[in-house]
Amino acid sequence: MACDFLKDLAEAREYSSEHSAAFLLDSDPLGFNLKSSERSECIAGALQCGREVAQTFLDANGELSPYALAAKLKIKVIEAALTPARTVISVFDPALHTVTLNSIIFEMIDTVMSRYGTGELFGRFTPQEVAICHEFFHYAESLDDNLFSKQCKTVLWRVGAFAYESTIPAVSEIGAMACAKSLCQLVVSPLLLDMLVWEGMDSGQARRWFDKLKRSHP
Ligand SMILES: [Zn+2]
Repeated sequence: MACDFLKDLAEAREYSSEHSAAFLLDSDPLGFNLKSSERSECIAGALQCGREVAQTFLDANGELSPYALAAKLKIKVIEAALTPARTVISVFDPALHTVTLNSIIFEMIDTVMSRYGTGELFGRFTPQEVAICHEFFHYAESLDDNLFSKQCKTVLWRVGAFAYESTIPAVSEIGAMACAKSLCQLVVSPLLLDMLVWEGMDSGQARRWFDKLKRSHP
């Protein structure tokens, strides 16, 4: 199984941001039903939004380490077991101004990275730092309702002239991924973090997730 994982990882390293974004949209029931023109618009808008948010952080703070930037923004970073949300990598809580890194997941990521010798996957950044940069986007969303990810909506149902709309969670995740990629100057997609988690949980399931990722096209 070892070589299967490394083979998948090598292939995924080459995937564009658009490719990873398409996978996230396909995995979201609200994104899956979009028309193809809306789909491309969502992907392009979310990627641009994530990059712009990252640039705003850089312009205002210079190139700080993710932990230093969190401290400057008065965001507390803690590492704790997120149960029952065992598969969640990290989460930003706007009320508590806290980023929680799921210790269960990071132990798993650590094990997979040392088992396969992929320590350099995110350049000079640790998986925790990539996750913190992802959460900076959700922090920005908590402050600005005009961001693309807050404005990009799909109609859930209509009654006469009334339409009930909802934001699309995947659009927000695509933005967060683009923000982390820019802040950490990654050459790979931050979605590789998820691949490490899949592998840590269940190799067989990881292959199925990867097949789905492989088939996603923007
Ligand atoms: Zn997120």
